[in-house]
Amino acid sequence: MTTTSQPPAAVTTLLDQARRDYAALTSQGLALDLTRGKPSLVQLDMAAELLQLPADRYRAADGTDCRNYGPPSKGLRELREIFAPVLQVPVEQLVAVGNSSLELMHDCLVHMLLSVVPGAERRWADQDVAFLAPVPGYDRHFALCERFGIEMIPVPMTADGPDMDVVEDLVRSNPKVKGIWCVPKYSNPDGACYSDETARRLATMETAAPDFRIFWDNAYPVHHLTDEEVEVADILTGCAEAGHPDRAFVFGSTSKITMAGAGVAFFGSSPANVDWWISKAGIRSIGPDKVNQLRHALFLGDTDGLRAHMRRHREILRPKFDTVLRIFARELEGSGLATWSDPKGGYFIALSVKKGCARDVVRLAKEAGIAVTPAGATYPYRSDPEDSVIRIGPTYPSLEELEQIAQGLTVCVRLAGYEKLAAEQN
Ligand code: PMP
Repeated sequence: MTTTSQPPAAVTTLLDQARRDYAALTSQGLALDLTRGKPSLVQLDMAAELLQLPADRYRAADGTDCRNYGPPSKGLRELREIFAPVLQVPVEQLVAVGNSSLELMHDCLVHMLLSVVPGAERRWADQDVAFLAPVPGYDRHFALCERFGIEMIPVPMTADGPDMDVVEDLVRSNPKVKGIWCVPKYSNPDGACYSDETARRLATMETAAPDFRIFWDNAYPVHHLTDEEVEVADILTGCAEAGHPDRAFVFGSTSKITMAGAGVAFFGSSPANVDWWISKAGIRSIGPDKVNQLRHALFLGDTDGLRAHMRRHREILRPKFDTVLRIFARELEGSGLATWSDPKGGYFIALSVKKGCARDVVRLAKEAGIAVTPAGATYPYRSDPEDSVIRIGPTYPSLEELEQIAQGLTVCVRLAGYEKLAAEQN
């Protein structure tokens, strides 16, 4: 295999080869899409029974007629019981509501901007507010901050979660830092899992802002890709034991369990935060879609049923991740042009190409008919200072398409990388 410490003549040869491979790639007339992490059709079909449920049932376990307005305002208990252990939230403190966890994060921000959250002296709209944004991270978290004029301060991710020395420093010294985005398990996009020590430090750290919040977006709690089913520490208990019971907001949803955008979302937190949330949410909506919650509870059955369902997802997803990883290794290992994550779960692979090349790789791929998430999307303000990270979402395309996509991408990585190397050598 090749290395980047090539003499100029070798780089010219490699560049010529990459140019020929790219010409062959563009001549294929591909039209492939890798832009978002969506469940595949096979995964969606696994939840097809949902479309027949709740059949002629409309009563919840407590006798509630799900067809009508009315309590329970926290959502159906039987569904919350299924998800409480998975999201590590006591069932009394877990709310099932809406179809989108992103929507709940949006609403939490709005409610904190417009009304005083437990622990706060004033509402956030009357102050400068900044959030810590571990990078690379989830573009839609960053879009929420941008939407509301919340400044984002990037914090580098490590294999154990955000760099906690940086986090502790920033939250201790700056009262306008009022929150942090966290995807604690199988993080989007690099697959990192927060270590117990990271969770402990997040729960115990001193913050200058009394109303500091951890947005614990547990989007992938049961989305394992290996036998090692990673467990992450229970953040609510950690915060409560550290004397900061109101610090964490926990979010989750069934978007990547049943049907994306047609599932159920969850919010969990301290009793005070849940009361606060319900007092605001109760004005926005008369109540959740209990029929959808009932069909989800009937379909999943219990927490074991949920875990068994996700093992069937894994059977579909594992070969897709393996295909991409195998082709990356075959085409790029040892080239010095790229590194990539090998996640134990979740929906993404983070591909890090040679500094200054990510935008070129994405452009080349697009011109060859492969749509990839824009370079920079995983950074606040779409600005990756190294222009290096590309998010790969292998879940939706078929295995045959993934072969073409991964192979095509590696050609783009080689072309952009060797062009850069050649330019540097001149
Ligand atoms: N958080 C993360 C980390 C995600 O990756 C996603 C979906 N891609 C979401 C939230 C959005 O989930 P929902 O459909 O529940 O809004």
